[in-house]
Amino acid sequence: MTKEYDLIAIGGGSGGLSAAERAAKYGARSAVIEAGKLGGTCVNLGCVPKKIMWYGASVAHMLNDAPAYGFSVKQEGFDWGKLITQRNQYVTNINDWYHTYLRDSNIDEIQGYARFVDDHTLEVNGEQYKANHIVIAPGSYPVVPEIEGAALGITSDGFFALNEQPRRVAVVGSGYIAVELAGMLNAVGTDVTMFLRGEHLLRKFDPMLRESLMEEMLSDGVNIISSSQIERIERADDGTLTLTCAGGQIQTGFDQLIWAIGRQPLSADLGLDRTAISMDAQGYIKVDEFQNTSVSGVYALGDVTDAPQLTPVAIAAARRLSDRLFGGMLDRRLDYSLVPSVVFSHPPIATVGLTEDEARESHGEAVKVYQSRFTPMYHAFTEHQTKVAMKLVCVGAQEKIVGCHIIGFGADEMLQGFAVAIRMGATKKDFDDTIAIHPTGSEELVTMR
Ligand code: FAD
Ligand code: NDP
Repeated sequence: MTKEYDLIAIGGGSGGLSAAERAAKYGARSAVIEAGKLGGTCVNLGCVPKKIMWYGASVAHMLNDAPAYGFSVKQEGFDWGKLITQRNQYVTNINDWYHTYLRDSNIDEIQGYARFVDDHTLEVNGEQYKANHIVIAPGSYPVVPEIEGAALGITSDGFFALNEQPRRVAVVGSGYIAVELAGMLNAVGTDVTMFLRGEHLLRKFDPMLRESLMEEMLSDGVNIISSSQIERIERADDGTLTLTCAGGQIQTGFDQLIWAIGRQPLSADLGLDRTAISMDAQGYIKVDEFQNTSVSGVYALGDVTDAPQLTPVAIAAARRLSDRLFGGMLDRRLDYSLVPSVVFSHPPIATVGLTEDEARESHGEAVKVYQSRFTPMYHAFTEHQTKVAMKLVCVGAQEKIVGCHIIGFGADEMLQGFAVAIRMGATKKDFDDTIAIHPTGSEELVTMR
């Protein structure tokens, strides 16, 4: 017998859970189909365990700074296993909480892998399900290149499964995950070498951010090899990995290699060939501005669409979709412009809006940039110092702020409020008219000359 719902979400991650939760609040009969663990990538293999590791790495930095503040700290090592155990328990608690939460919210949890049978019918473990509204939110998976020996490496998923601290690691890639994992491993004492195929870290970010980050990571002791294309990985007799790069350059002695070269949509095994749902050449499900796919009553959101791969983006798209479908808000949709994000590098980066280059490309001479670079008070007398750098990108006679970019101590917690102001159309004068909070790093953003 086919079971019927008002809404079914494929995927119990950031997007799917949020769509079902909001739909259920409006009284819709909702279900979530999850093949793995509730919470999806963010909770199990992304934001949450990553942030705990980032905090651990931040503690390591602070322990190094402690003597400058008068503390005599006897550092007797770092227990990777203890941190991993605590982290895993924290994640398990969130998984458990979700089961109870779904039950208490009258949302059915269906364990298993969903595939389309036709445009409006799904099959899970041999059972069929139908819904007036089906939300596709299966997320994405980490890419591994098709080169000899690639399977000897791991991805971020494998990183979170490491029960022992690696001694020497090669991190391939230069995006969010590469700089985050490299920074945290380096902070806790692993010898890290990054392999960049280009010249820059975070190529698409504002030049001030990528140049400052490169400087800080090098000064922190991360080895960075740029313009390198890895062609082959082999395991040596002593168990370590040897990397051969284009041009014959050889790097040896790594006990782990982490691929951090982007993520692809998880759309290939959804049975979409039995439907009229369209994908683009990379497998992203095509949607319009209301998350509608090419089949009426079927929607897609989150990492499986060509949207910023961020948890709050998936959540926001999902909630707005359910508001539209069940809350009578017919125009409700997510505006994908001005999405703020933080890279949990060491030091962290916070960014929203246009980079300086993007602004100049679209607004030419009308662009004015305010920039500041300083040593934060926290580092006034610590042995290892990191700088803070900030940039406001403004446009036109009103100096409307179209971009804000920050790297350094506290950047991660600074941007959220400024992102609200920028979304509301704040100008440089609005920032200047705001009384500073002293002494903080963020006051610099309202006092720039
Ligand atoms: P997911 O959260 O991945 O959920 C999809 C779920 O669907 C999964 O649980 C999967 O098991 C399930 N599934 C897949 N196919 C099927 C099927 N056919 N049937 C049933 N179930 C299925 N974002 C941030 O905003 N901040 C961060 O700090 C951050 N850090 C990250 C760190 C890492 C290492 C990674 C990998 C990602 C990070 N992200 C971060 C990105 C964020 O995790 C994703 O953008 C977000 O989880 C996407 O949500 P989603 O709902 O589209 O997919
Ligand atoms: P990103 O898209 O951030 O970066 C991918 C990187 O891989 C790029 O630097 C690219 O280099 C490089 N690359 C691509 N192909 C190759 C190759 N064959 N060899 C070497 N390098 C290659 O992807 P990530 O995997 O880091 O992260 C995926 C997404 O997850 C992010 O885009 C982000 O949206 C999300 N995420 C968010 C986080 C947060 O909010 N803090 C944290 C982690 C992930 P090039 O620059 O040369 O193109």
